Amino acid sequence: MSRIFNFSAGPAALPEEVLRQAAEEMLDWHGCGHSVMEMSHRGKEYMSIHEQAATDLRELLGVPANYKILFLQGGATLQFEMIPANLLRGLGTADYVHTGEWSKKAIKAAKGFGRVNVVASAEDRNFTYVPPQSQWKLDPAAAYVHICANETIGGVEFHYTPETGAVPLVADMSSNILSKPVDVSKYGLIYAGAQKNIGPAGLAIVIVREDLVGVGQPVPPTMLDYKTHVDNDSMYNTPPTYSIYIAGLVFQWLKRKGGLAAMQQINEQKAGLLYDYLDQSSFYSNPVAKSDRSRMNVPFVLANAALDDEFLKGAKARGMVQLKGHRSVGGMRASIYNAMPLEGVRALVDYMREFETSHA
Ligand SMILES: *Cc1c(COP(=O)(O)O)cnc(C)c1O
Repeated sequence: MSRIFNFSAGPAALPEEVLRQAAEEMLDWHGCGHSVMEMSHRGKEYMSIHEQAATDLRELLGVPANYKILFLQGGATLQFEMIPANLLRGLGTADYVHTGEWSKKAIKAAKGFGRVNVVASAEDRNFTYVPPQSQWKLDPAAAYVHICANETIGGVEFHYTPETGAVPLVADMSSNILSKPVDVSKYGLIYAGAQKNIGPAGLAIVIVREDLVGVGQPVPPTMLDYKTHVDNDSMYNTPPTYSIYIAGLVFQWLKRKGGLAAMQQINEQKAGLLYDYLDQSSFYSNPVAKSDRSRMNVPFVLANAALDDEFLKGAKARGMVQLKGHRSVGGMRASIYNAMPLEGVRALVDYMREFETSHA
């Protein structure tokens, strides 16, 4: 069996080492005689997996002691609602920066809970850049400021941390969490669906500063209240145990690979290879402002869109799949998360060069 290079935006490729370990442990986890999926979530075996995953994530990201790590369900999309439900609480307004499809969805969801102020938008240039902070019209009385740290569809990424003073900064890091070191203390809340850069779908991670939990009125419904999950170590009800187990294996894999600084280096190398090739070519192009390009999701178009299908067919024949762009933007998109090896990006660039030569 040979593994293909999977450029999917999510659910995305996982490290082969992790999948092999999970396969080995599938029928009999550490001599307990059954699989992780079959464990009681209150038993000591599963509890050890759960605690280790939280400990490793805390270490990898350098999460300070006054932040809680939550393992939840409902994806990043449920966080679009849990965030305003928990953080607005009588505070009136939240500030949102609009950088593309995912911020748009977050903004729409928040409007159901209170007043939303769009403090900056990249709509004027079709969401191909991050509006510089000098142009944001922040409200010092806002409950929080929300950004999408990496727009998975548009391929636009924040390469700086906004300064929001005393107003908590909230970031959707679904598609770039663990791709580089982050100063968590600059954020009030960080959240991410797991299926891009962490593990299997079914798990969402929330890292929240303690003082933002359980304050103000009205109190959200029990399952939507962060306090419920903080008070119960993410075990108020059955957590997505197998997804947490695999995420834990990914955290250990990241530690073996040298942590997030090492990841950043290799991610920059991978993205650099692809963008350098795109930039010297007139056959392919990427529309995003150079300073704001994502190192995780690289959209590109062929100058002649009539060749798209042939390009995708040829890629598939060479073992490279899921390169078709999001239905809303068309063209191509290569998602090159932590688990995509450098050889995968090299194979893609080699193929792009070959295709260009034979079709230009
Ligand atoms: C995929 C994605 C989401 C939605 O995630 P779900 O887990 O499907 O709810 C939200 N934000 C960003 C940035 C994403 O990439």
